[in-house]
Parts: sequence; structure tokens; C-alpha cells
Amino acid sequence: MAKWVYLFKEGNATMKNLLGGKGANLAEMTNLGLPVPQGFTITTEACTQYYEDDQQINDEIMGQIMDAIVKMEEITGKKFGDTENPLLVSVRSGARASMPGMMDTILNLGLNEEVVDVIAAKSGNPRWAWDCYRRFIQMYSDVVMEVGKKYFEELIDKMKADRGVTQDVELTADDLKELANQFKAEYKEKLGQDFPTDPKEQLMGAIKAVFRSWDNPRANVYRRDNDIPYSWGTAVNVQMMAFGNMGETSGTGVAFTRNPATGEKKLMGEFLMNAQGEDVVAGVRTPQHIDQLKDVMPEVYDQFVEICHTLEDHYRDMQDMEFTIEDKHLYMLQTRNGKRTAAAALKIACDLVDEGMITEDKAVLMIDPRNLDSLLHPQFDANAVKAATPIARALAAAPGAASGKVVFTADDAKAWAEKGEKIVLVRLETSPEDIEGMKAAQGILTARGGMTSHAAVVARGMGTCCVSGCSDIVMDEENKVFKLGGKEYHEGDVISFDGTTGNIYDGALPTVDATIAGEFGRIMEWADKYRTMKVRTNADTPEDAKKARELGAEGIGLCRTEHMFFAGDRIDAFREMICADTLEEREAALAKILPVQQGDFEALYEALEGNPVTIRFLDPPLHEFVPTEEDDIKKLADAQGKTVERIKEIIDGLHEFNPMMGHRGLRLAVTYPEIAKMQTSAVIRAAINVKKAHPDWTIKPEIMIPLAGDKKELAYVKKFVVETADAEIAAAGSDMEYEVGTMIEIPRAALTADEIAKEAEFFCFGTNDLTQMTYGFSRDDAGKFLDAYYDAKIFESDPFSRLDQDGVGKLMKMAIELGKKTRPELHIGICGEHGGDPTSVEFCNTIGLDYVSCSPFRVPIAKLAAAQAALNSK
Ligand code: ADP
Ligand code: MG
Ligand code: MG
Repeated sequence: MAKWVYLFKEGNATMKNLLGGKGANLAEMTNLGLPVPQGFTITTEACTQYYEDDQQINDEIMGQIMDAIVKMEEITGKKFGDTENPLLVSVRSGARASMPGMMDTILNLGLNEEVVDVIAAKSGNPRWAWDCYRRFIQMYSDVVMEVGKKYFEELIDKMKADRGVTQDVELTADDLKELANQFKAEYKEKLGQDFPTDPKEQLMGAIKAVFRSWDNPRANVYRRDNDIPYSWGTAVNVQMMAFGNMGETSGTGVAFTRNPATGEKKLMGEFLMNAQGEDVVAGVRTPQHIDQLKDVMPEVYDQFVEICHTLEDHYRDMQDMEFTIEDKHLYMLQTRNGKRTAAAALKIACDLVDEGMITEDKAVLMIDPRNLDSLLHPQFDANAVKAATPIARALAAAPGAASGKVVFTADDAKAWAEKGEKIVLVRLETSPEDIEGMKAAQGILTARGGMTSHAAVVARGMGTCCVSGCSDIVMDEENKVFKLGGKEYHEGDVISFDGTTGNIYDGALPTVDATIAGEFGRIMEWADKYRTMKVRTNADTPEDAKKARELGAEGIGLCRTEHMFFAGDRIDAFREMICADTLEEREAALAKILPVQQGDFEALYEALEGNPVTIRFLDPPLHEFVPTEEDDIKKLADAQGKTVERIKEIIDGLHEFNPMMGHRGLRLAVTYPEIAKMQTSAVIRAAINVKKAHPDWTIKPEIMIPLAGDKKELAYVKKFVVETADAEIAAAGSDMEYEVGTMIEIPRAALTADEIAKEAEFFCFGTNDLTQMTYGFSRDDAGKFLDAYYDAKIFESDPFSRLDQDGVGKLMKMAIELGKKTRPELHIGICGEHGGDPTSVEFCNTIGLDYVSCSPFRVPIAKLAAAQAALNSK
């Protein structure tokens, strides 16, 4: 028979998966001999079983709960529903990973009319007794029966007003008794039944409610944001009450052993006398600083400080604790490794190493890579944020802080930025033509679109702050004005927004820049020691490449050349190329682009100082480049000596029903070999030139052909790429070596990787396309239905941000195995957005990739994740 229920003294800290974090640590504290009110934990597996049994607690689990109650009664010497010595308990949720405030807790369970009278009389403290009872009715109604909290709060407010008092503590025993009666009446009115009096019935109701709370909407969202699987379930802790509301010698508090905002090694926390549970955080009264406990109750304070030392020493990490003082007796109710800001995480890890508490590898393991994101972008000055009130909130699509003058078009963004203005681009939504303007902006705000909209994806790639899907905006792009927060904003008006919180502010907020110095630098150094997988960056410009190098990138894993064609002087020549009618016209246009492109690549090789650079040839469908405005079409027609009609005809001819699966990638090279030839010449000439200037650098161009699906099509393109490259090398009298590889982003390429590897000298997984094509849905449209998929528990996360290891991952494993069979020296990387996602990075390490490549701002995140993956695999 499975064991579904554990007494605290039967568990320990290593049993988090089964007992949840709270339960495992209550057990551990019990074993350490700390004062913990005793009780038992119903396992996370029981929660899973509850859902499997159609939200019923089955007989076996029920039986074990009943046995545990009997044992708990023996241990505490109290009995449920007893009129002599009644047992009152809390029923608390607690998952494997802490999810603060996401699930529910009920306190003072076990009370009824009879029991409350007994404890009121026996304790000589009727105020306490009735305070417990009214709290219990309130919480039970809210959590178990889902009668809204607000009805009870209204009654409390009314009572306070009637009595002419402002604080809960000023209500007398009689007031609280009356409140309890009002609450019960409210309960009956709302639910048409009496408030339950049988403690065991109350207990079962509460346990079920905690199980149910695992599936409440806020818990579901929290889990998705924090990569916590639904399948884990929550444990339920049933614990004897410690009463902080017995009067002025009782109280309750929370504390951190170190400062969770800064990491400073100093006890931080708050407490309230004559209070219970959440009173401290709920702000019913202003709590006192933990240091003041020294004056209020010196002995309890000393004991608490002692316990803090014991716990930090034991867990070797900063602890976040809850405690209650019941008539001068201290009880510990919770401890866990405290949540902290990224800055605090770095400081605490370094301090613990310096204090000899942990080793460097432990320090590397204790930092959540996801957290670093907030340190890698310019940030608002924390004090300024505190003082400001947001005018609206949008999706936090790409982290960072943006502050500047509003512009409404990408062209304006560029023009204003060139004049030296700090601007933010505000649009209904963005499209590929907006790239230049998006780059020029401090931040991008869109009224439409979700986390995977064009604006969001591109902004994350560029490391530009973006908030998207701000539905409150009333937008009039044509007249360059929008309404928000009751105010009209015109071009040039200043706003600020925070890509980490999604908050939007009126006016300018001051920002501070990000650097990898001090503790951040130390941690990254340690990470590099343990890491085996390389981390490259996706960078299209020398500036991005430099930034990425500063942040520790070891090469470029993906340089998307199409972005190079958007800049002012090139787009014209490129449009001429697209709208050419003959090969000669096309070659003439390409001849104009060649030197510019060569210059781009030279600058990249310079920036990379001998580190590898993978250059991907033109990928997107050509219609993304053609003009849409009449003026631009006219200009193009004039430049080519063609009629506007002819140009429009050509543009119309580019129309595709499904461009993502259309004429793009190496299909462009098959139909227009001269484009790939031009790009080959540009790469090789650039490499030869830079090598000449820096003979000691290793320069071995990696030419990457996108979107191959068939060995023969790759062979077809590779042939003229190699001919062109060899001719350039021969003409320069050089001995430059180079490689031609491909992206694996079409399932067929993965399935036939042994064949593909006969041509390709390296693979790089383009997991954005590979995910898109494996699932058969477009990432630009997935936003429309993903929410429904989350609600229906079909998906727990967005497969475009977190790699689908079962499906896409299987194709990757297959491609690696097949590819290496043909070509053992094949080097393999990944360059989709997944390359910067910690969980996906861990997977890439497991399947043996040589490197991951991600946007510059995610390089330190990927490096840390790679180090953790290496350490965890040992
Ligand atoms: P959360 O996980 O949201 O913090 P908890 O289960 O920790 O929820 O409980 C909420 C509050 O009730 C906390 O302040 C906690 O200290 C308090 N509490 C829980 N159990 C007891 C108990 N047995 N005695 C006294 N206070 C308790
Ligand atoms: Mg808690
Ligand atoms: Mg692709």
C-alpha cells in the first residue's frame, strides 16, 4: 500500500518532491529540534491521485488521514472537537517549488459554537477565542466555499465604523462574537446551508480546497511563468495552531536571514504583536521592524536569531521564515530558501563562498539563470519607479527600460534618432519593414499582439525593451495620436515603460546601464570553469556582435544577412534586384550590393577578433522587401526605367498563400543562384581581407544555407557556392579554409540527416522553424489559440520559447545521431530563440550540442544554464 501521509517527524528536507517544500522543511526543522507545531503532510502524489479520481479523496488516502489525525492527537495531547482540550489546526498548501500566495491556507480549523465557548471560558481570553472563530469562518467561506472575501471585509469595516474604531485589535470580544454570528448568517444566506460544525467535515473540506487550489487560474499562470509542471501537484500540511493573537505577549512575523533585495548580510523582517497569519503582509496594521523585537521581547529575539543561524548553517543559503509567538513562546512555521532579486542572488552566492559556507560550483548552481535577465538591460532607477504611478499595463514582452518621445512610424523613429532624440515607437503592431525604426527606438509599445507577436520576438532578439498588447490604448496611427489613462499623447510627448513589469508611465523615468562587473563577473568566471558547451550569439551587426562579446559570447552562431538589406542605401539596390526582369539587371543590382555586404562582413570579422562566425544566406521570402507605398514604388520604377504598372505586376507576382512555406531559404538560391554567389564572394573577400590585417586570428568562414530539406537541393546550391568561393580564394592567392553547412529546420532534414551530412559540414538547428513545421502551426498565429491550449492543459508552455523536447527534441536527437554517423567531425549548434532558454539549454547539453547561440543579452543566461547543465550531468 502506498504511503500517502507522513507525520512531520517522519519526513526530511530531501523529500520535497513528495512532501512539497513547506512540508519537507517543517519535517527538517522538526528533526533539527526546532520548536515546530506538530502535524502531518498529505503527499503531492495524493493530490495527483485526487485529480485522477475525479476530485475525490479515495478510501485508502482517507484512511491514512484518519490514522494521522489520531497520531497527531496523541502527540499534541489535544483532540478534534473536544470540549476539554480541543485541537485547532491550520491546513496549508505547499508544492515542490514555492508559489507564494498562489494557493490557499485555512487557520483555526476545528472551531464550532461549543468549542469556542469552551476555549473562551477556559483561557480567560474570550477576545482571542472569538477572533479565531471569526477568522476561521471568514477563511473557510472564502477558500472552501468560495464565498467572496469582500462580504466579510465589508462586515468588519461596518463593525469598526459602528464602534468608532480604526483597527481590528480595537474590537472587543463581544464585537468579534457578534461578527462571527454575522459571518455565519452571511454564509447561510449565500450558500443556503449552515456553517459546518463537525471538525472532521471541516478538515476534509479544507484539504480538498487546497488540492483544488492547485488548479486555480493564478496558480496556473504562475506555473507557466516559472516552468513548474502541472503534474507535480501540491501537498497539504495539517498543523497544530500556534496563536499569535492571544494578546500583547503574542505576535507573528516573517523574516529573511539576509536582505532579499540587496543581499546584504543582515536580518530583515517584520512582525506584529497580537496578530495572526497574513496580518503582517496584508497591511491591517503597520508592522514593526524585526530589530524592534529585541526591545519588545529580548529573550524571544535572541532565540530567533539563534534559530536563523542554525537554519542558514544547515541549508547553506539565505532563509525566508515565518514564525509566531504564542504567549512568549516562539514557534517556527516555515523556512525556505528565500526568493531574491538577481543582484541579491549574486551577492549572496559570492558571500557564502567567501564565508566558506559553500563551494564555487554550489554558487553557480544556486542562481536562477532566468533571473539574470533583469540585470542585462538598462533599468529604471528603483526609487523613481517607487515614486511613479503607472498609467496602464501591457504584456512584459521584452525586458528593459524605455523612456523617450513618442513616434508613430518606423521612419520617424529612424529620423528622430538620427537627430539624436531618444524615442519610443508606439504602433498598433509592427511588421518586418519596421526593423530599422525598432532598432532606433529605446523601446517599442504595441496596442495589439501577444508575447510571440512580431514586435515581441524581434525586440527580444535585439535586446530592446518592448511591451505589447496594451489593449487600453485608443490608437489613431493616421493622425499620430493615442489616448491612454485619460490623456492624449501626440508625437514628441514623453512616456516611459518597463519591459520587465509591463508598466507604462507618463513622462520620463531615469535609467541606469547594465554591466557584468563585480559579483556578476565572479559568478560568470566560475560558470565558465564548469561549462563544456560553447555559447555563441545571434548577431547581425558589428554593434550587436560587440555587445555580445562584452557579455561573453564565443562567436556568432547566426548572422541573418537579410537585416543587412533593410538599411537605407541597400534596400533600393535590393529592390532593383527583386524587380529585375533579366539576369543582367539582377547582376547589375547585386554588383551594387556586393561591396556593401563585404563591408558588413569585414566589420563582423573585426568585431569577433578571430572567433567563429556563421553567416546565413538570405532566408525570407522576397515580398518582405518590396515597397508598399506609392512613392517608393514610383521611385523604384524611375530608377529602373520601368513603368509603375510593371513594378506592381512584379510585386503582385511575389504574392504567396503561405509565405513561411513558400519561396524562401535555399529555394531562393535555387531560383536565383546569383544571390548566393554574391553573398559567397562577399563572405570570402571579407574574410581574406581581415585575415590579411590580422594574421594571428583564426578566420574560417562558416557559410550556412538555410531551410534545406533534401540532400540534392543542398548539393545543387553548395556546388556553385564552393565554385565561387574557390575562385575567390584562388584569385586572391590565399589558402583560406571555409565550411558550408546547413540549418536543420525542416523535419525532413532531420529525418534524412545522414544524407544531408554528406553535403553539410556543420548543422545548426533552427528551432523556430523546426518547431513551427513540426507542429504545423505558425508562431505568428499561435498567440490566437495558445491561451485556450493552456486552459485546456494541452500545453503548459509556449513551444516557441521552451523547446518541445518530446517532439522537436526527438528530431534533433535523430539528426545528431544520423549526421555524425556520416560525418563524425560534424559540429552542431542551435540558433533558435530556444538557445537562450535555460531549460532548453540544459536539453541541448544533454543531447551533445557543441554550442547554443542566442541573442546578445541572453549570452550570460545561456552560459550559466550551460554550466549548471554540465554540473548537473556529473
Ligand atoms: P503561504 O504559503 O501563502 O505563505 P502559509 O500556509 O504559509 O501560506 O500560511 C499563511 C499564514 O498563516 C502564514 O503567515 C503562516 O505563518 C500562518 N500559519 C500557517 N499555519 C499556522 C499555524 N499552524 N499556526 C499559526 N500560524 C500559521
Ligand atoms: Mg507561508
Ligand atoms: Mg528559419
